[in-house]
Amino acid sequence: MRSFHYERAADTPDAVAACAAGATIIAGGTNLLDLMKREVVQPERLIDITRLDLRTIESAEGGLSIGALVSNSDLAAHRDVRRDWPVLAQALLSGASGQLRNKATTGGNLLQRTRCYYFQDSAMPCNKREPGSGCHALGGATRLHAILGGSDACIATHPSDMAVAMTMLDASLDIIGKDGASRRLRLRDFYRLPGDTPHIETVLQPGDLIAKVVLPPPAGGRQTYRKVRDRASYAFALVSVAARIELAEGRIADASLAFGGIAPRPWHDPAVDRLLVGEVPSAALFARVADVLLDGAAPQEGNAFKVPLLRRTLTATLNELCREIPQ
Ligand SMILES: Cc1cc2nc3c(=O)[nH]c(=O)nc-3n(C[C@H](O)[C@H](O)[C@H](O)COP(=O)(O)OP(=O)(O)OC[C@H]3O[C@@H](n4cnc5c(N)ncnc54)[C@H](O)[C@@H]3O)c2cc1C
Repeated sequence: MRSFHYERAADTPDAVAACAAGATIIAGGTNLLDLMKREVVQPERLIDITRLDLRTIESAEGGLSIGALVSNSDLAAHRDVRRDWPVLAQALLSGASGQLRNKATTGGNLLQRTRCYYFQDSAMPCNKREPGSGCHALGGATRLHAILGGSDACIATHPSDMAVAMTMLDASLDIIGKDGASRRLRLRDFYRLPGDTPHIETVLQPGDLIAKVVLPPPAGGRQTYRKVRDRASYAFALVSVAARIELAEGRIADASLAFGGIAPRPWHDPAVDRLLVGEVPSAALFARVADVLLDGAAPQEGNAFKVPLLRRTLTATLNELCREIPQ
């Protein structure tokens, strides 16, 4: 273990000043501390933000404002979330374990790092950890890896379930920059694809602090999160689908879908949503949607199974949401 400097911020300006001076934020610590113990990351200075006033969940702008320090447990249990954004509660409860969700925060969950075996092993080359060192996932063990959005430099997946649900819901982030100014950003524009700079994962600037997540007003229809994984609990997604479908007079009036476990970021393809709207639900339609989603998929030998798995998971999710509900 390397030595590092630890301090606890008293308030947001205090935290912003520390971030501006190069400190790394620690919130729940459930991801950062693991990575430090494995020497995957080696911050010299930590700023603990857990005393900041960012634990509120409240109605805002017709939707919901969620402080960055709200725990994954509290968010999943919140009455408004369970009633109006159930997909988010389901995604949260499908992740990690009860103890971890009690510590894990909303901001930390969005910024957790990939579970790629090669990134997590500091003895292995990894372009994300050490730019230019190579990628041993390519041609290596790829069960958890991307089939969409990867590059010759990196095929790691983003591990968060919560972020997939929030992407489907078109959430936004309020971010405080090192000058203390706040700005808003859609989550759909937050994560970057790896290209040849896989170490740059988001559009955050050095010193930025996520203050809150804002959900838009509840939309109609039914929503669900379906996660396929190697164990029934306590495992990351091989494939996941967050979906909302609104039916009117036998047709799909509105649709929003996002996918996890298949790409370096929560995957949202507007063409998929567009293809569904105005159509009568059918097996043929769902097959066409899967074709569009998987257009450009580039699986490796070890994760080729994700192509049919994603197709089946998507179809099962759409069948569930388009089923007539007995009155
Ligand atoms: C065994 C295990 C199983 C897990 N299974 C799942 C799973 O199935 N699904 C899933 O989605 N997750 C899973 N997780 C991940 C877990 O959800 C994350 O570790 C957790 O959400 C991270 O939150 P944290 O507050 O502890 O973040 P921290 O570890 O404190 O921080 C993580 C990163 O976010 C940054 N950060 C934190 N807060 C802010 C902020 N407000 N602004 C800017 N930067 C910030 C930190 O600097 C750090 O880089 C699992 C974790 C473990 C250990």
